[in-house]
Amino acid sequence: MKKLISALVALAFGAGMFVSAAVAAEKGTVGIAMPTKSSARWISDGNSMVEQFTAAGYDTDLQYAEDDIPNQLAQIENMITKGVDVLVIAAIDGTTLSNALENAAAAGIKVIAYDRLIRDSGNVDYYATFDNFQVGVLQATSLVNGLKERFGDGPYNVELFGGSPDDNNAYFFYNGAMSVLQPLIDEGKINIVSGQMGMDTVGTLRWDGAVAQARMDNLLSAYYTDKQVHGVLSPYDGLSIGILSSLKGVGYGSGDMKMPIVTGQDAEVPSVKSILAGEQYSTVFKDTRELARVTVGMVNALLGGSEPEINDTKTYDNGVKVVPSYLLVPVSVDASNWEEVLIGSGYYTKDQIQ
Ligand code: BGC
Repeated sequence: MKKLISALVALAFGAGMFVSAAVAAEKGTVGIAMPTKSSARWISDGNSMVEQFTAAGYDTDLQYAEDDIPNQLAQIENMITKGVDVLVIAAIDGTTLSNALENAAAAGIKVIAYDRLIRDSGNVDYYATFDNFQVGVLQATSLVNGLKERFGDGPYNVELFGGSPDDNNAYFFYNGAMSVLQPLIDEGKINIVSGQMGMDTVGTLRWDGAVAQARMDNLLSAYYTDKQVHGVLSPYDGLSIGILSSLKGVGYGSGDMKMPIVTGQDAEVPSVKSILAGEQYSTVFKDTRELARVTVGMVNALLGGSEPEINDTKTYDNGVKVVPSYLLVPVSVDASNWEEVLIGSGYYTKDQIQ
């Protein structure tokens, strides 16, 4: 009897294994193309997606391209050849994937643009991102609040930095920020002392912190030998770090040269530490775990034959079509709420920051 029972148990267990293996195989493989490991946020995005896709029964193929466009193209072509079922892509240059995506469509592979819109292609099925215009609004609002807090009523001397001109998000961040700043510039409350405005002038190719640092050095030596800069709009923590080193290099943050208000984005650990040290003023937190969750939901729906959940069908025109999108809500973080937002949500442990 004992033998019979254990044989039955083994059979049932075997059958169960077989069923779950079959389910996993049915669910398919997700190719995940991420831009670079040089910024911690993309590492978190990749890790969260692998974790959540695996838990949902998918295989994953996660690749990083170190900000090299041909490298990312080759990785995506390779995923298509290997026959992934879905592609999730955070593009380095949002305009260079049209041919690759034609091949994907021909092979019946669905495509989700992850965080960054893929432009100039009809073969983008859905877009999972944050409210990117609102990111810019939050950055500029924090800049203005910080200026009042640190420098009184103004007028204030401010310089503007933009993100990478090949990243669609950069325009949304800039335009969102300018929706807050332009009226103050028009009123004379904010002076852009260098006069350098517009994404074609203030953009920072590949979001490179060294490029931002060099531009800040030039701005300081060309326009600020006899006056102080009070604020710098920076769209990304990696740029803010470069900008802050440039400012510190000429004495800001010591003696009577108060540190200008410098914004950021992504709540990366070095920048959160910088906020606590009184250097960077703020950042914008975008919970990459949530973005992964939305993306897994989209893939589940797409492959399961239902409609993915979306909450925006108007904003993201990629030049060929308006891509149906799900926008998550970004959160402004500064010294007053970092603990509640970043530790309270379990995104970081206190040890990582302090
Ligand atoms: C992302 C930002 C990030 C930037 C640089 C943008 O596309 O939305 O979160 O700071 O790329 O990596």
